[in-house]
Amino acid sequence: MTTQVAHLVPYGEAVSRYEPVIGLETHVELGTVTKMFCGCPTTFGLPPNSAVCPVCLGLPGSLPVANRAAIEYTIRIGLALNCTIASWCRFARKNYFYPDMPKNFQISQYDEPLCANGWLDVTIGGQAVRVDIERVHLEEDTGKSLHVGGATGRIHGADYSLVDYNRAGIPLVEVVTKPIVGTGELAPEVARGYVTELRDLLRALGVSDVRMEEGSLRCDVNTSLAPHGAAEWGTRTETKNVNSLRSVERAVRFEIERQAGLLDAGLRVVQETRHFHEDTGTTTTGRSKEEAQDYRYFPEPDLVPVAPPESWVAQIAASLPELPAARRLRLQTSWGLPPENMTWLRNAGALDLVEQTVTAGASPAEASKWWLGELATESNKRGVELAELPITPEQVASVSALVRDGTLNDKLARQVLEAVLAGEGDPAEVVAQRDIAVVSDDVALIEAVDTVIANNPDVAAKIRDGKTAAVGALMGQVMAATKGRADGSRVRELIVQRLS
Ligand SMILES: [Zn+2]
Repeated sequence: MTTQVAHLVPYGEAVSRYEPVIGLETHVELGTVTKMFCGCPTTFGLPPNSAVCPVCLGLPGSLPVANRAAIEYTIRIGLALNCTIASWCRFARKNYFYPDMPKNFQISQYDEPLCANGWLDVTIGGQAVRVDIERVHLEEDTGKSLHVGGATGRIHGADYSLVDYNRAGIPLVEVVTKPIVGTGELAPEVARGYVTELRDLLRALGVSDVRMEEGSLRCDVNTSLAPHGAAEWGTRTETKNVNSLRSVERAVRFEIERQAGLLDAGLRVVQETRHFHEDTGTTTTGRSKEEAQDYRYFPEPDLVPVAPPESWVAQIAASLPELPAARRLRLQTSWGLPPENMTWLRNAGALDLVEQTVTAGASPAEASKWWLGELATESNKRGVELAELPITPEQVASVSALVRDGTLNDKLARQVLEAVLAGEGDPAEVVAQRDIAVVSDDVALIEAVDTVIANNPDVAAKIRDGKTAAVGALMGQVMAATKGRADGSRVRELIVQRLS
């Protein structure tokens, strides 16, 4: 193993001299009820080794049967990615030994993928980047090793390892891009944007729950660098199992800085797999790929070829839902929000919530303001997704309505949202119970204004002399006296009126 130590080149400098080429291999666990080649359930989080049978344990004499739903899902993905669907293809055996693979081979697809040659458009900063898709193939997932002891949770330094075969045999789709060239300094953003778009697409297709944190969507990120204008691409590294969108971007960025350091120092980049570390944002060396592994692929003898009839493919194509890019465009047009707002909403996972809030009666601007503001802050604080917050789009729409009819101002609306999140009931109930509606009664406001004026004769005198900037000081006190329940512009009017 080669240990390469070189300084990191600051990102801007690295991309000013080197051109990155990236590629992404994304594994998606399909959301079928049963596994790829047997009837075991695919439920996440079952007790270890409870969802297994002779087929997925690879016991002698057991025979696999392909899952029709998994093939249909794969075709659905291929069609949505503008791929050609093979009219005939086979599964292949990929032979290698690893403890989490009970059969010592994985059933995959080799030179006959089910879907090939497609594309996915990604929007980065308002600009469309077309990412070409090389192939979409179907395979089975491996089991999971748990390394006990040691600091890192990796096999190195562990006291012993345990294997859970529940995941072995879950249908897995691999989506492989062609090399993505010419993106320059945007390469890390394009990588992230691609995975984001792919995730949204898969979710819209209903083929996977695409939970990166549970490993149902996992990404391997290839990165290489070459001097601008070079005739050949550089040697690439493959950063494995990057499991958040943010990490995809960081992994590419770090590899660019690291590889630029090596090239600057006259060293060569070693072709290898690397591990990404969430805590430090760095990658470290994994397994060298200098000698290509020989997996001794051959056609899987226990399975018949897959030959989806044209009529079936046409039927699947006709049943595709509206895809995310088309939906965003439609919503943007009908909502009249700027494109960057749509990007924020998408990245925050708020698009569905805002749509439902608008359906419940809020304006698009109000709905996106609350979901991207108060509620996004709250979801970050709690470390949960927006959709997991204990508040419904209907409740957000009610808060919006209460602001619109003058019952609440923005500050009070925030208090109501907090109370709803704390489980105090619907917005109307909170307003009634806490008595926090805006004081719209002028008699009460005038009383508060007069008290504040009487208590601050100096400030009042200044305002009488025409120093209107001092109004703010009195306003603050009136707002405090009414516990923020007064309408600010009305208070200002009243102060000026009383002192003129
Ligand atoms: Zn099984």
